[in-house]
Amino acid sequence: MSEQLDKPWILEKQLDELKAELAAAGFRGFVARQIFQWVYHKNNQEPASWSNIAKADRERLAALYDWRPLPVLARQDDEEGTRKLLFGLRDALKVEAVLIPEKGRYTLCLSSQAGCPLGCAFCATGAMGFRRNLTAGEIVSQVLALKRELGEYSGRLNLVFMGMGEPLLNYGGVARALRLITEPDGLNVSPRHVTVSTAGVLDGLERLERDFPQVKIALSLNAPDPALRSELMPVSRREGLEGLLAHFRARRLRQRITFEYVLLAGVNDAPAQARQLARLLHGIPSKVNLIPFNPSPGLRFRRPDEAAVEAFRAVLLDKGLTVVTRWSKGRGIRSACGQLAVREDGQGERKQ
Ligand code: SAH
Ligand code: SF4
Repeated sequence: MSEQLDKPWILEKQLDELKAELAAAGFRGFVARQIFQWVYHKNNQEPASWSNIAKADRERLAALYDWRPLPVLARQDDEEGTRKLLFGLRDALKVEAVLIPEKGRYTLCLSSQAGCPLGCAFCATGAMGFRRNLTAGEIVSQVLALKRELGEYSGRLNLVFMGMGEPLLNYGGVARALRLITEPDGLNVSPRHVTVSTAGVLDGLERLERDFPQVKIALSLNAPDPALRSELMPVSRREGLEGLLAHFRARRLRQRITFEYVLLAGVNDAPAQARQLARLLHGIPSKVNLIPFNPSPGLRFRRPDEAAVEAFRAVLLDKGLTVVTRWSKGRGIRSACGQLAVREDGQGERKQ
């Protein structure tokens, strides 16, 4: 065990890095690609079983790297088939990721940080504070484990960075993970099927757009005016709403931006606020995701009733916006948006 910990972790390696390391160690040129195909295409991290690699090579490889994916400590299912996995990181922190079945495909909801430093008032992850950024290996390990749950399924996967943490405050880890996710010899997911959701970190956004122009962007808006947004999302005091929207307006957009809007009863769900929101988004090719608030212990907000959600949506539709209401799945197992929160004493769920 302790010996394994000292070895480099295979899931942290990009293909070009592995090629260089293996060439220096005297392996033939194609071995790195073969390894990637076992690890990512076949989801097999057991070198002893790799039939197309010579036995002596497999033995050396087994000794060179730590091959273990992150352990899954717990699984929770709800009635609709949403499944939440709890992962144990090597330093004993824990993070969660969620598998969500949708019509004809699956969505994998990934965490990018243990906790989150941004402390949005309506978010359980924010309430637990910040522990640390996840590494690329810790992110792709979530994907491998969620895919394993799907067995032989080989249809469409959507990956969304909407679990714990603010992905653009962990640009390095997320960008390396995105390379492994989209690499043809890696997880081979089309970047068009990956969405990075952000509370609005402008420099990270600019880097993401430059490095991964096809990856989709979702901005968590949550309020139709700067004052309310700053109250709900402290990050908005630094990265102003106007600046973020000006960025989207100025960009020659290749795709629509998704704006997420958590509906909080009596706070941001009035029809007048819907009209304000429509004005704000004028001139930006956008899609609005309405997410009725998911309650968690310790959060002081309420979920609006269906009529209020419908009335809000009707205003936006009337103004010509595309709107999707996400009555989040997985509420029963606290795995819906904004509900992921892990205690460090091993109990998984945060209690009040
Ligand atoms: N940090 C990133 C990604 C993780 S949060 C971000 O903020 O975008 C993913 C989504 O969950 C965000 O749109 C956020 O606004 C939403 N969310 C947070 N808390 C929620 C809650 N209690 N109920 C419903 N949605 C919530
Ligand atoms: Fe962090 Fe996103 Fe939660 Fe805000 S909503 S605290 S940015 S995870």
